[in-house]
Amino acid sequence: MARKFFVGGNFKMNGTAQSITDIIANLNTATLDPTTETVIAPPALYLLLARSLADPKIALASQNVFDKPNGAFTGELSVDQLKDAKIEWTLVGHSERRVILKENDEFVARKTKAALDGGIGAILCIGESLEEREGGKTLDVVTRQLNAVAEQLSPAEWAKVVIAYEPIWAIGTGKVATTEQAQEVHATIRKWLGEKVSAAAAENTRIIYGGSVTEKNCRELAKQPDVDGFLVGGASLKPAFVEIINARL
Ligand code: PEP
Repeated sequence: MARKFFVGGNFKMNGTAQSITDIIANLNTATLDPTTETVIAPPALYLLLARSLADPKIALASQNVFDKPNGAFTGELSVDQLKDAKIEWTLVGHSERRVILKENDEFVARKTKAALDGGIGAILCIGESLEEREGGKTLDVVTRQLNAVAEQLSPAEWAKVVIAYEPIWAIGTGKVATTEQAQEVHATIRKWLGEKVSAAAAENTRIIYGGSVTEKNCRELAKQPDVDGFLVGGASLKPAFVEIINARL
């Protein structure tokens, strides 16, 4: 079974009701590669608006979710609430949350499990800092982050996980990983899936790249055998996001 190309747009803490309406209007009228699974993640406040405006072929993702079902957790969103709002995906473990909000591997793993248990797909973000890359620790770091999740999930549950490899030094910096750097890590993640999870997970799990992807660099990256799509930050707010969704046309 061929892996369906997956492109996510992470708006982060950007946008207004008007600008998000405009972005979605552009996506709705554009010709999008029907073989790409397109998902957008606006700020939580605008998820319902975005779901009401976006063409059904565009899925919605939350940028975060909590690991508990409901209750006294001020400021958090539950998986059931996302389901209720027809949000099909959530990001988990974005480096901005791991670094700024001090989310550790175990917490990210629990959120991943909670999302899957509640019927939401998880876009699991992993990746190393510049210091870790320069110290030759990239593969150790991504493996450690993945091992924490593997402890919580059954092999079958990986079918609803998309792994986003996002080197921290490439996020929002304009410094994209080379095609060789991305392919090397993606291939290692796929090998890890085969050894630690199952042959089916290695074959079927989408591994997408994130970090300064633009309409200019996406085509070369998309040609790599283990790059199954992108998670896009800054460029997802621009009309050129359409070109990234269509990177293989
Ligand atoms: C991201 O936030 O997931 C991201 C990859 O950002 P950018 O594309 O802006 O580097």
